[in-house]
Parts: sequence; C-alpha cells; structure tokens
Amino acid sequence: MDGFAQSTISEEAGTELSPGEIHFLWWFIQGSIMNPSTRDRLRKAWGMCERHAWGWMVVEASFRSGYMHGPAVLYEDLMLRALAAFDLQGPFQHERLKQRLRSKGPCLMCEEGYGADSKGIVKPERVAQGRDLGPLQALARRTSEYWRRNVCGLCSGDGSTVRCRRHLIEDNDHGVVDNLERHRSHVSSLVDHIVRFSRSFQFEFQGTQTLQNSAALIGSVGWLSGWSIFLRIVDAPSVDSKKSLEIFNN
Ligand SMILES: [Zn+2]
Ligand SMILES: [Zn+2]
Repeated sequence: MDGFAQSTISEEAGTELSPGEIHFLWWFIQGSIMNPSTRDRLRKAWGMCERHAWGWMVVEASFRSGYMHGPAVLYEDLMLRALAAFDLQGPFQHERLKQRLRSKGPCLMCEEGYGADSKGIVKPERVAQGRDLGPLQALARRTSEYWRRNVCGLCSGDGSTVRCRRHLIEDNDHGVVDNLERHRSHVSSLVDHIVRFSRSFQFEFQGTQTLQNSAALIGSVGWLSGWSIFLRIVDAPSVDSKKSLEIFNN
C-alpha cells in the first residue's frame, strides 16, 4: 500500500472545495509552488493526494483560463523522476520499484489541515470561481481522445489493464504485476508529451501546443494521484448542479 495515499480528508464528507482549500490554492498558484521546500514536499509525496491534486487543476484552470503553465512545470519534474524510478537492474526489481514509487511524505495540503470544512478569509466570488469546474471540463473534453487510454482500470472499474501509481503499487503487493516494461512505457509516453507540453510555454516554442501534449498533463496527474475524482468532474452534467455532486469525496 502507498502509506500516505489515505489522507485525513478522504474520510470526511466533502462535496466540493472548501473556502480554505481555495484560499490555499489561490496563493499556491500565485507563486508559493516555486518555493524550494514546497517543491521538495511535492516530490516526496509524488504530488498531492487525489482530492487536492485535482482541486489544484480545477483552481488553476479556472483562475488561469486553462493556461496550465505551473502544473506543466511541476508534473514534468515529477514524471521525469517517475520514469527514472523504472531504471532497474539486478534482483528484486518489483520490490525496489515499489519502494521508489511509494509516497515518502504526506500531501502538503492535508498535512496543513486543509479539508472539506476549512474556513478561509476569501471573497465569495473567488470561492465561486475556484469551484467552477467548467474550464477543466473544457480542457478534458478537448483532449479526451488522448487521455482516455491512460485511465487506470482499477480507478475507473472499466477493466483496463492500465494502472495508476497507487494501483500499480497495490497490484505489486498482490503479486499480480508480471510485466514492468508495459508500465514503464506508459510512463515514458506520458513523459515524452508532458516535456513537450511544458516546453510549449517557452517563447521560442510557442504555437507547438498540441491536444496530445495537453492531454499528458491530465494523464500525469491521473497516473500519480488517481483518476476517480477526475472522472467524476468530467461526468458532472453541468456547472450549476455541481453542488449536489459528491465530486471531491474520495
Ligand atoms: Zn491532500
Ligand atoms: Zn488507479
């Protein structure tokens, strides 16, 4: 098991991001993501827990109108590290991979106590904007042809043999992973595209953003943190009715 995957938040009944979570994420995307100690915590935890990883994507897409530069830079870094974890030679490769892919620390938002009941001094308009699923849904719709094939079969229950990081660790614990190369090539393909996606924000590469490269951001968040919440976001019928949906409750 991934020791830190079960956050304290996961047991709480939370149907949408709380004002406190939106307040934190707002400052996070303004620049605190660049803080070296924050980066270190994100590396140790392989990003954030599922709730907060997708919460960040919702907030980033909403406040930046789908311009996902910050996440592109972070997920490029994390996925390059994930691919390096598959560089294994010699004995006990499954066990060593599991150790490398485990989270070595908690989600930084969970650790700081942010959850479904967190209060924050934040304007109601900002809370409403931070809860708007529309911009992430639009990105998901545009790129779905490419990220659908990356969805973990255990997160989605659709029978696919693709696995996210956490379910790969779980399968490994149950001794049902025989071919590590297949999983390595999944990660390698995500790396190819997230590197290009991240580079597309540089001046000299502007105009090189493709749907497949954009989809690799979704594929990377899903691989590292899990897909269930994202699939609920995608399936939410409309922004207006989102309050009645238990989207962020994992
Ligand atoms: Zn968390
Ligand atoms: Zn999964």
